[in-house]
Amino acid sequence: TAPSIMTVNNAHFAGVGETPTKEQYEHGIQVINEDQEFNHTLPNYLSFEKVGQAGFNYHLISVFGSQSTGKSTLLNHLFGTEFGVMSETERKQTTKGIWMSRNKRAHTGGVAKSMADNILIMDVEGTDGRERGEDQDFERKSALFALATSEVLIVNIWEHQVGLYQGANMGLLKVVFEVNLELFLKGNKNNPRSLLFFVIRDHLGTTPLANLRNTLIQDLSRIWASLSKPKGMEDSKIEHYFDLAFSALPHKILQPEKFVSECSKLGTRFREGQRDTRRDPLRVEEELDRGIFLPEYHRRIPADGFSIYAENVWNQIVNNKDLDLPTQQELMAQFRCDEISREVLVGFDEAIVPFENKQADKIRSGAPEILGGLGAAMRTARMKTVKAFETEASRYHKGVFTRKKGELESKIDGRLRILFQGQLSAAHKSGVREFSDSVSGAVKAGQKRGANYDFAEIVDREKKSALSRYEKEAKAVLVEGTSWSNYKQELASYQKELGDVSGRLRRDEMRRLATRVERWVKSRLGESVGLEFNSLGSGRGGSGAPETGDKPSETEIWDRIWGVFTKTVKEAERRFTDRARSFDASADEVDVGIWRLRRKSWGVLRAKVDEEMMEGNLLLKLRENFEDKFRYDDAGVPRIWRPTDDIDGIYTKARESTLTLIPLLCRFQLVSTSSPPPLDDWIGNVPQSVTPADEEDLAPIGGVDEDEGKSLEEEMTILSDSKKQDITVRFKKTADGVYVEAKRSAIGGMTQ
Ligand code: GDP
Ligand code: MG
Repeated sequence: TAPSIMTVNNAHFAGVGETPTKEQYEHGIQVINEDQEFNHTLPNYLSFEKVGQAGFNYHLISVFGSQSTGKSTLLNHLFGTEFGVMSETERKQTTKGIWMSRNKRAHTGGVAKSMADNILIMDVEGTDGRERGEDQDFERKSALFALATSEVLIVNIWEHQVGLYQGANMGLLKVVFEVNLELFLKGNKNNPRSLLFFVIRDHLGTTPLANLRNTLIQDLSRIWASLSKPKGMEDSKIEHYFDLAFSALPHKILQPEKFVSECSKLGTRFREGQRDTRRDPLRVEEELDRGIFLPEYHRRIPADGFSIYAENVWNQIVNNKDLDLPTQQELMAQFRCDEISREVLVGFDEAIVPFENKQADKIRSGAPEILGGLGAAMRTARMKTVKAFETEASRYHKGVFTRKKGELESKIDGRLRILFQGQLSAAHKSGVREFSDSVSGAVKAGQKRGANYDFAEIVDREKKSALSRYEKEAKAVLVEGTSWSNYKQELASYQKELGDVSGRLRRDEMRRLATRVERWVKSRLGESVGLEFNSLGSGRGGSGAPETGDKPSETEIWDRIWGVFTKTVKEAERRFTDRARSFDASADEVDVGIWRLRRKSWGVLRAKVDEEMMEGNLLLKLRENFEDKFRYDDAGVPRIWRPTDDIDGIYTKARESTLTLIPLLCRFQLVSTSSPPPLDDWIGNVPQSVTPADEEDLAPIGGVDEDEGKSLEEEMTILSDSKKQDITVRFKKTADGVYVEAKRSAIGGMTQ
């Protein structure tokens, strides 16, 4: 089971995230303290030393050897570090633990021999518990830790200890080898090699380095042979896992100057090198003066992941867990990739959050808006974010990197997609609104000009422009490389809504057309029906054929009105149909329009008739009709009453003739059929496609709308019986008045 790498213990090392001071890191950093706790502030130190961003361009060295063999002294000379050194007078043990410091030197033997960049050195204190009779627990743990992290293990040894196979140093090496087997021999083919770099101290010079080397190799081989190796590994050799190098230094106290100059020379060995395949790896390396950092030693932990990796490894070691380095590397990769994701998302947020906020605000306020510059911002942000992630994270475990990159992409794509959709829906809303507005505007302008504007053409033109505007906005927010970056479906729904709106606008246009046609019907009927009623006044004719002089029959007034009415409406229907067809109205829509037109026209006619038949108007007409018959002779010449004239007879005849008009006018009835006009047949059945909205403003018509409870007879009744009585009485009185006046004038004429 993989341990959580997030379990950190801050109790003993405060100050993570604090800005480090120069003094604080004067002596490097204590990575592992005497209580075997890992220092969580290691990242601070690495960034303080500017190693954190070095990628793979850094190196790690650990030193091993018995207590007080001058290890720290050596490191300080080689690397300019300030590791604690046992005071010569006090002989007091320095603090147990593992210290780390960055190389401060630039030992150079010319450009080709400058030290490598970013060398980190770990000084392991108190590893030789055996000498003091302590348990070897820390020795083993630190060896594991060093091998899991370091490219080079410096093995520090006195010259006089060489060959003492039973000595402490050899015990230490045995531990290193065992730990190495434990770590790397478990069938992992890609084990990194390590360099064991023997530095022999207080070399007197009497025994040549080559001899010391041979002795050491013999001892190492014996140790190796004594290890119990895993199955199948029985024949493995040291050189399969370790390179060996040897070097010697003079006595520091007896030959201080030479010690310093040799240290300086040795320092230049800490540079990048290449394997010389022609040479025996176990040769005396001193003479070769080879750069010791071979690429294959590197643990391939990116510098920015080193702290977390080292901490994981240490936690595993301390908890006596099986140290599985590939798993640790994956865990580190996950941790770092997550961190890098968070870091690159900061930049993404900076670019994208303002758009997200604005869009959300607009949507909340109910007025979605097309956001300018969104497409470019989305493309740039996505590209930059993914690139930044790749740059930082691609150094890590490939599988983890690929997975985390996918996660990052789906995270940002999810957000970009929302923006994309929001933009499309804003373009949709504003496009539909603009379309509707510009069609209405163009219609209004057409009406103003009074011209016969082409509604279908307006719709067609505006639809095209609305579509191209939408596509332009949609194209502008495409983000290549994403799965969602197309707007086919949205475009289809946009087109559909434009279609719906066009339909609605067309229905509006139909209504306007209908209103115009109705107005025309009203004015035509007003004129022609008015003429028919006026003709009653002449008592001798109507509008039938005044120019021929024929006297149209008064009794056929309703036939003529019905005729002129149906003719007028037919003409109106023709106008309506022609115009409606021109803007692609459907047959159903035309049917409904005509049905409405007939019903409304009937209403117009009925209102006009009622107006003509208002009491005052009707009485006036009857009086004129009567007077015409009474005061003019058959040739149309006005009568001059003489006492001899049959005033009574003429009066009675004219009055009776006019009186016959009253029942005639009371009912709309055709002479030709002796019944009311076929209004229901003429209006026709209710069209199938009629909607409640179409019927909303229609007045009920008796005999047509059966459930109105009003019959056709009633619809056709112009004056009620009581009205009829009333009118008859009043007309008679008026006629009587005229009669009296005529009598008087006859007598008056005689006396004159
Ligand atoms: P460490 O415990 O291995 O780190 O050893 P130190 O560096 O603390 O040194 C232990 C003691 O050895 C100190 O008193 C040093 O002065 C002394 N010392 C350091 N280098 C040498 C050396 O090259 N030769 C001898 N003889 N003594 C040394
Ligand atoms: Mg030391």
